[in-house]
Amino acid sequence: MLPFLRSDLAQLTAYTPHPGGDSSEQTEGPQILDRLDTNESPYDLPADLKQQLAEFYQRTLEANRYPDGAQADLKQAVADYVIESANLPAQAVTPAHISMGNGSDELIRSLLIATCLNGAGSILVAQPTFSMYGILAQTLGIPVQTIDRFEASFEMNLAAAEAAIAQTQTVPVRAVFMVHPNSPTGNPLTGAELDWLRGLPDDVLVVIDEAYFEFSQQTVVPELLQRPNWVVLRTFSKAFRLAAHRVGYAIAHPALIAALEKVRLPYNLPSMSQAAARMVLAHRHLLLEAIPALLAERSRLFDALQQQPELRVWPSAANFLFLRFRNETEVDPLPALFELLKAQGTLVRHTSGGLRITVGSPAENQRTLERLQSLLKPSLSRSAY
Ligand SMILES: *Cc1c(COP(=O)(O)O)cnc(C)c1O
Repeated sequence: MLPFLRSDLAQLTAYTPHPGGDSSEQTEGPQILDRLDTNESPYDLPADLKQQLAEFYQRTLEANRYPDGAQADLKQAVADYVIESANLPAQAVTPAHISMGNGSDELIRSLLIATCLNGAGSILVAQPTFSMYGILAQTLGIPVQTIDRFEASFEMNLAAAEAAIAQTQTVPVRAVFMVHPNSPTGNPLTGAELDWLRGLPDDVLVVIDEAYFEFSQQTVVPELLQRPNWVVLRTFSKAFRLAAHRVGYAIAHPALIAALEKVRLPYNLPSMSQAAARMVLAHRHLLLEAIPALLAERSRLFDALQQQPELRVWPSAANFLFLRFRNETEVDPLPALFELLKAQGTLVRHTSGGLRITVGSPAENQRTLERLQSLLKPSLSRSAY
């Protein structure tokens, strides 16, 4: 360990974006890899939109100039989309309600800096959930308090949540991070969970991550405008097909947005990413047309996986499914299943005692099903019983 580094960093390991393998592995074998591990869209941008972006780079963009640091046009376009997506009256959301991030990951870090740094607070998460909240908190030396969820529905343990907020032994909880619908389990917030969040004191920030909003069509944005301690995070990395460009946004009361703007880096969003986000918003109806078919594929995958007696599959409001083996066995069959799927060319996410499988294109989903069905039939199902 280098002597000038913070000693607590020694406990951390760098995030591996694809724990199951990286793209370099793809070139080694003849197998095509169905990448169903990170919940991206299976579809690239349509060729004419890519062309449009390339022409913007060629003709308009000045590579020697810094990007628009105020991101004014993009914020206005995002505000208009938020209004449309939540059926709000015109002008209900303005650029003053929006902060842009280099992916919503950056906004998570900004929220942590703005609320919990310098021993000011800890965060609360309900496991299993998106790992980035805990990882980013640890890099900033911010304590993470975790509570559990009930396996039947993955609803969080509200009694444990309440106790965590009330405790006085450690650093107080300053921010609660919820995903709506949750990753990796796919369940949206229930009425009881929302009521609990509504009852939190106003010195606790409530972060509601709507990364999968375009699939779930469930949003707390209308309520957010009345709640200065709530913030909604969204991303262009999933339904909008822009994972490569790293664009996310926060929606909140202007006072909270002003704090996020203070802590963000001045030119956090490259010009091409701003242009790409503006372009997909302008063509949102075309791009989002792919979603009903994807949701139908999700149902098909869900129904088929439910036919496997050894698997337990949960309903999902997002673009992925979560499954576990029903029976506890001496040898956990998941690592083997994960590796065998990968060897056949299907990359999924092995996490939280289960597999999270992104809904891909119909062909990818069909291959996933056939591979799973054939792997489960002979050896694994026997070892699972
Ligand atoms: C994918 C995902 C994000 C998106 O992160 P970006 O940094 O915008 O790519 C955020 N939150 C959750 C829960 C996600 O699953």
